[in-house]
Amino acid sequence: MTDQVKAIWIRDPLAILADDAGRGIVVKGGKIVELVASGSQPTIQAAVFEARDHVVLPGLINTHHHFYQTLTRALPAALNRELFPWLQALYPVWARLTPEALDLAVTVAMSELLLSGCTTTTDHHYVFPAGLEDAIDIEVAVARKLGMRVLLTRGSMNRSQRDGGLPPEAVVQDEDTILADSERVVAKHHQRGEDAMVQIALAPCSPFSVTTSLMRATAALAERLDVRLHTHLGETEDESRFCEQMHGCRPLEYLEECGWLNARTWLAHGIHFRAQEMKRLAKAGTTISHCACSNQVLASGSCPVCDMEEAGVLIGLGVDGSASNDQSNLMQEVRSAFLVQRARYGVSRVSHKDALRWATRGSAACVGRGELGEIAVGRAADLALFKLDELRFSGYGDPTAALVLCGAHRADRVMVAGEWVVSDGTIPGLDMGDLIRRHSAAARAMQMAKP
Ligand SMILES: [Zn+2]
Repeated sequence: MTDQVKAIWIRDPLAILADDAGRGIVVKGGKIVELVASGSQPTIQAAVFEARDHVVLPGLINTHHHFYQTLTRALPAALNRELFPWLQALYPVWARLTPEALDLAVTVAMSELLLSGCTTTTDHHYVFPAGLEDAIDIEVAVARKLGMRVLLTRGSMNRSQRDGGLPPEAVVQDEDTILADSERVVAKHHQRGEDAMVQIALAPCSPFSVTTSLMRATAALAERLDVRLHTHLGETEDESRFCEQMHGCRPLEYLEECGWLNARTWLAHGIHFRAQEMKRLAKAGTTISHCACSNQVLASGSCPVCDMEEAGVLIGLGVDGSASNDQSNLMQEVRSAFLVQRARYGVSRVSHKDALRWATRGSAACVGRGELGEIAVGRAADLALFKLDELRFSGYGDPTAALVLCGAHRADRVMVAGEWVVSDGTIPGLDMGDLIRRHSAAARAMQMAKP
């Protein structure tokens, strides 16, 4: 081979979510450089990866999560509660988060995501107790180690119970500290351009935990630094009531007043929006992360995805949690979103392909990365390859439909930017047994400690 950069031909896949790529695709230099049609050969020399047992998907993109919550999965005090009491049960436990525990939680969440076929993830980290000032730096380091593409958000809370908010004093910070650190982490970590592996967005937590002043200042800072904006909105009726009482308007009007209703913003949940509000979201180019599992666990309702799409709003998927999901498996989230929306809208409006589209192209729009989420020439070489050799698939007909309908949950191979980060269903170099032991011990210490 004359060229320095090695090309790989992912040859003869069992199925592939792309047109005219029956004989597979060629990747090189972190990009997809060729689709190989049935009966054809690649036009460039390439090493072969034999994919005849694999269904090849664009890497899935997770648009909403809280990695640290893997430390409080299925916590007894939070079981069987709706969002507000659920949060009130968990805030005091989260206040005990340490840098070491966060490092383990992030490693666990990202590993779970990678193994489920996710190649790009966001995280919404908004808990900064004393001593955890470097939370985002810790997350960046883990992402680099695992080779995952990330859009990490510098979250924030500054409205505690003292100011009529929901969280206790121990987990909030003041506005100046939040804005200064937001600027710091963007300057230090945010990469620009199509090859970016680490990006930063700004993410005040929710209307009931953040002041109007911080919402406005964050929007202005995001505009100045040219980064994306994220928050929870339209998750529960409690939130709508809180907005009406505190601000005299509905959540979306509040968002607009704060300078957030624009194409920079993607919102987690988007359940309780009215038809007119969906049109305003569409016009603004604001996108929605649909979190089907979390919404079911907390009985928050479900995002009206088809109505949203008909209004022109783009929809991605998010695992949320992992204290409300309580897993970080994006392929399972695809199945969950498919089932929830199928039940809501019927067989003619929702197919397995829609659910896969939300987790790929839709999610790419949420994270503002048009070069991701599609198998096409020039797009990033971010891929998820699944085998259908488990008991759950035995007897399948359509291989791609089988992934969603039979409940695929573990990818065999995952590629990010042209590099294999999952091989034979494992993450090379990661001692999973040791990780589980250390993460479980950190979780127990956090859950058992006295406040
Ligand atoms: Zn969330």
